[in-house]
Amino acid sequence: MPHTASFKCPRCGFESYNANDLKHRYCVRCHLFADDLPIRVGDQVRLTVEGQTVTGSVILASPNGRSLAVEFEAILAGAVGMLPVLQSDNGQWQDLMGRAVELRVIVGRSAVGR
Ligand SMILES: [Zn+2]
Repeated sequence: MPHTASFKCPRCGFESYNANDLKHRYCVRCHLFADDLPIRVGDQVRLTVEGQTVTGSVILASPNGRSLAVEFEAILAGAVGMLPVLQSDNGQWQDLMGRAVELRVIVGRSAVGR
């Protein structure tokens, strides 16, 4: 099988080889654009702040998924156990002190049962 570029949905993990899905980062299973997928309570995320990466779970989320509190068992850039993060209009995440945060959903809610 030849190597083909694919798009993997960060929420449900569905992988699409459709060029349009890839281009638009669209998930046919979630029927959402990846960049519009709201992150919700219970999602597992990976946070990177100032070069340090932790895995945590979302314990608070605004309805649009752009204001979150993430809980983890670590000290991340001075934050003990929890970090509130906000997403700005350009898609960049930051903490309340304005530090850049890299956030990635690693285990979203399964598409099953939705
Ligand atoms: Zn999906």
